Amino acid sequence: MKIAVLPGDGIGTEITAEAVKVLRSLDLKFEMETALVGGAAYDAHGHPLPAATLKLAQQADAVLFGAVGDWKYDKLDRPLRPEQAILGLRKNLGLFANFRPAICYEQLVGASSLKPELIAGLDILIIRELTGDIYFGQPRGRRTAVDGHFPDSEEAFDTMRYSRPEIERIAHVAFQAARKRSKRVTSVDKANVLETSQLWRDVVTGIGKQYPDVALDHMYVDNAAMQLVRAPKMFDVIVTGNLFGDILSDEAAMLTGSIGMLPSASLNAGNQGLYEPSHGSAPDIAGKGIANPLATILSAAMMLRFSLDQPEAADRIESAVKDVLASGLRTADIHSVGTKRVGTREMGDAVVASLTHKTTKS
Ligand code: NAD
Repeated sequence: MKIAVLPGDGIGTEITAEAVKVLRSLDLKFEMETALVGGAAYDAHGHPLPAATLKLAQQADAVLFGAVGDWKYDKLDRPLRPEQAILGLRKNLGLFANFRPAICYEQLVGASSLKPELIAGLDILIIRELTGDIYFGQPRGRRTAVDGHFPDSEEAFDTMRYSRPEIERIAHVAFQAARKRSKRVTSVDKANVLETSQLWRDVVTGIGKQYPDVALDHMYVDNAAMQLVRAPKMFDVIVTGNLFGDILSDEAAMLTGSIGMLPSASLNAGNQGLYEPSHGSAPDIAGKGIANPLATILSAAMMLRFSLDQPEAADRIESAVKDVLASGLRTADIHSVGTKRVGTREMGDAVVASLTHKTTKS
């Protein structure tokens, strides 16, 4: 099992160190190699995704990714900005399916901005198509308008675009994931306005006929955004395109209280995957030793389940995280009265201790 470890920038190095520590505490053999990515790679090699880093990722069974980005790189040309490394990895590894679970842990119900009864027991999975849509559609650019409301003025344009095979493969992923859960898929689009969305809806409906045991419904994205904060437990698996998925998955993340708790996985057709926390590099708290490492540790659990075929080890990590929360330990982002505040390293140590059956109670 070969894992490429790409810590990246900001808190990325601190949180991946904890996930690596947890992986090493398992009685499994991994080959782990670390490389620079994002701003750190730009500083050292002049590019956010150097050829050697890409090669390492391509040759690995899975990539454990921290986070990239810092405001100090905002003035660089777009292709050199740290965030381009993620787009480059997705493109080169063909990572088209993004899994973002939003789970509300019993002990963290109070950390959500929603009422406890709306959020207790929440367990939804957002599956976002990752390689198509308006983020990649051509043509795009800036030009002088020749028509429209303001001819001769500067305008910018992007192209929303999906092909039938792109929609088919993500629909299969969603229906198959739903079969392992409560067999319900909600497909989110904007078919009342967009041609792309109408094709999306037609194709998902067609693929749904191959999964008669899974219930399918469709929802417009504006309604889905509203229902996620009104009655989020109505959803089980949500499947949607790149743009809508980007926004809805962040909205769902915040339902659970802290983005520091939420893992994610991006998979290709061969189950090779990139695993990363749902949050960014948090430059505001980088280097302070207070970041929550649990999203990254839970991403490592997803990696064991989806790419490394070690579901039992994944279950063990997830239950160790629950034990640590039950023991009252909290990083600053999820801390509340009556719990014990710990730093990044202590939280990682507590997960390791729980995995190795030591007491975590303090
Ligand atoms: P962010 O997710 O980094 O931070 C948002 C807020 O959440 C901050 O207050 C931060 O302190 C807090 N936070 C995030 N992760 C946390 C954790 N593990 N523990 C405790 N608190 C945590 O988003 P941002 O501030 O909008 O972006 C910062 C940088 O990260 C930008 O350069 C952005 O482009 C980049 N970014 C990278 C990724 C990625 O690498 N996949 C994703 C999103 C943003």
